[in-house]
Amino acid sequence: MTGEDEGIRRTAELAGAWLASMSKHSSEPLCHVRSNGLISYSTKKVQEIFGRTDLHGSHFLDLVDDADREDAAHLLSLVQGSQREGQLEFRGAHPAHGRLHLKAGVVPAGPEGGVLLRIEDVTQQHRDVDKLKGMVRWFRALTRNSGDVIVVVGEDLGHRFVSGGCEDILGYAPDELTRQVFRDAIHPADRMRVLLEFEAARQDVGATCEVIYRFKHKSGSWLHVETHVVNRTNDPDVNGLIFYTRDVTDRTIRDPTTGLPNRTLLLDRLQQVLVAEDSGQFGVIVLQVDRYSFVRGTLGGDAADLLMKAFAKRLLGVAAASWTVARTGDNEFTVLAMGLPDAGAIRPVAEGIGKLATKRFKVGTDQVVSTVTMGIALSARNYPGAVEMLRDAQTALVKAQEKGSSSRQVASSEVISRHADKVRVETELHRAIANEELRLAFQPIVSLSEARIEGFEALIRWKHPTAGMLAPGAFLPVAEESGLISAIGDWVLARSCARLARWRDTIPQAKDLTISVNLSVKQLTEQDFAGRVLRTMEQNKLPLSSIKLELTETALLERPEAAAAVLEELQSAGMTIVLDDFGTGYCSLAYLTRFPIDVLKIDRQFVSGSDAVLTSPRGKPLVRAILDLATSLGLTVVAEGIETQEQADVMRSMGCQQGQGWLFGRPVGPRVARDLIIAR
Ligand code: C2E
Ligand code: MG
Ligand code: MG
Repeated sequence: MTGEDEGIRRTAELAGAWLASMSKHSSEPLCHVRSNGLISYSTKKVQEIFGRTDLHGSHFLDLVDDADREDAAHLLSLVQGSQREGQLEFRGAHPAHGRLHLKAGVVPAGPEGGVLLRIEDVTQQHRDVDKLKGMVRWFRALTRNSGDVIVVVGEDLGHRFVSGGCEDILGYAPDELTRQVFRDAIHPADRMRVLLEFEAARQDVGATCEVIYRFKHKSGSWLHVETHVVNRTNDPDVNGLIFYTRDVTDRTIRDPTTGLPNRTLLLDRLQQVLVAEDSGQFGVIVLQVDRYSFVRGTLGGDAADLLMKAFAKRLLGVAAASWTVARTGDNEFTVLAMGLPDAGAIRPVAEGIGKLATKRFKVGTDQVVSTVTMGIALSARNYPGAVEMLRDAQTALVKAQEKGSSSRQVASSEVISRHADKVRVETELHRAIANEELRLAFQPIVSLSEARIEGFEALIRWKHPTAGMLAPGAFLPVAEESGLISAIGDWVLARSCARLARWRDTIPQAKDLTISVNLSVKQLTEQDFAGRVLRTMEQNKLPLSSIKLELTETALLERPEAAAAVLEELQSAGMTIVLDDFGTGYCSLAYLTRFPIDVLKIDRQFVSGSDAVLTSPRGKPLVRAILDLATSLGLTVVAEGIETQEQADVMRSMGCQQGQGWLFGRPVGPRVARDLIIAR
């Protein structure tokens, strides 16, 4: 029985009883309207609804809003004429409370003539619905620029809420994206797998899962999307599942560092070329940049990335427009060379590529020269598929290394020198700790609204006896690998705490100052790490909120469970957890909020530099979306790498609270930092 039927049945039942007694004292909201439209009786309840005691003898339609009067008159005469029940929804007014939304079951009044109404005040329900609609509009506006489409699905599996950015990302307006539409848009080959994953998450309260699959954009093109599902059916505020879906097409088919196609896209193109009738002769060259591991081990990951970027640029310079240059591994590129007149034509191509590496590369302040090793597969062998052809080229590459070719010899001597280098750095680092060659530099973190220093980030330096002041990138990777990072980390924390305690004791302006300390994920997995941190704080009599702990996104993702547990402990004790370099790990903020995080540091590649995200046309909305989402999650946001006033202004206008960068100050020694605090 519907609510409507129920209302009418109840009115009809009551009609008999009430008419029998003609009592005005019924506790039901009943009212009798004669056939001439005048009210003959109304109970107290009805009088309360309208806030009037003078209803008797007045015209019922006078209680109805102008806009609904015609409909109401029609219904009343219909009920009288047909002697059947009806349901009326109309608006009215209360002298003190204003507009009313009302519902009435209407039944013929029998021998009495006229009709009997049972009137219900549904004003509050209407307000609630309006409020809900308003909130949905508000939240959609808020999430319009978010990189995630957020869909909340109730237990009934209907879409309860779809966020604003839906149309930009998937092509469907939020209201269009029904469950059926969503299911149908999943690639048929992926559908079963995806729906099974969703179903598993639905059945497991508190579960989360991530699925990558193909999704058909409304325009018909295929996207690669990643959906992160969180089962929040046990949370009364959500009572459903949340789906965060983002377009990862670029990520799944391109190498983020060089922007080149990755293995997936290369295989796709190669397959197309193999099946096309008019491809002519072509070749696949897999090449390895031999110096890569050495650069990575000694100069760090950033330097290795720079080397690969520079090499990619040179490769593109020699490739014809119809060729594909892809990055297929850490230190590996693959060139699909098209339009070869004959099989022999691949040789000059390979020689040209070999020469590319012998010219110097500038990697930061260093110069690097490399060799390359290559493996080649030619179309003349009629490969059945792309995977087979690429595999053959890779096997040829391994053979080239084994054969003792000239490039192989270079590679092995580098392995020795790299090893020697590491051992040397390691020994020297041991000595550095003992000889107190490590230093801390302090870089100001300011509030963007007042440009006032709120704290410092402690950054490690190594005052090397012969090489001079070394930046962390030159020795931390070796420290990480050798385990020395624990001792260094302890030193940094102890030194930062001691320094802050001294400042707070001796400089009045330092009372609410904070220091942010960088942690390596290795530290988090050490025995009793949280306990040691808390004891160090206590020994220095520092409030727990005065030291902030910075961890990078990549570090967190390396050991998610272990990291989350230790951070949980530190945060619940009262320490502040900062997510450093946010945006460099290609991880969605929604995912990262699984970790206990208080502060988000947006990486400097978003803010400054010639290819900063902020200066690209699509970048600004992206940064804004990050800020919107972070703010709605209650996180404080710090922008790193602010070098110009303009960058500071833009970030502030978008709601970013704090900034760090050369504009406000470079990392400085403790004495200069002290002066800065006094001048605060
Ligand atoms: P980070 O934590 O993201 O630190 C910020 C880095 O950006 C610092 O480099 C800083 O000098 C640099 N920077 C600050 N403002 C600007 C600017 O306006 N423009 C530019 N281009 N750069 C700016 P630094 O000191 O070389 O540190 C590099 C990284 O080394 C740090 O990145 C941090 O991840 C790590 N690190 C530093 N000290 C420690 C430490 O004590 N322990 C651990 N585990 N890691 C550390
Ligand atoms: Mg940091
Ligand atoms: Mg950073």
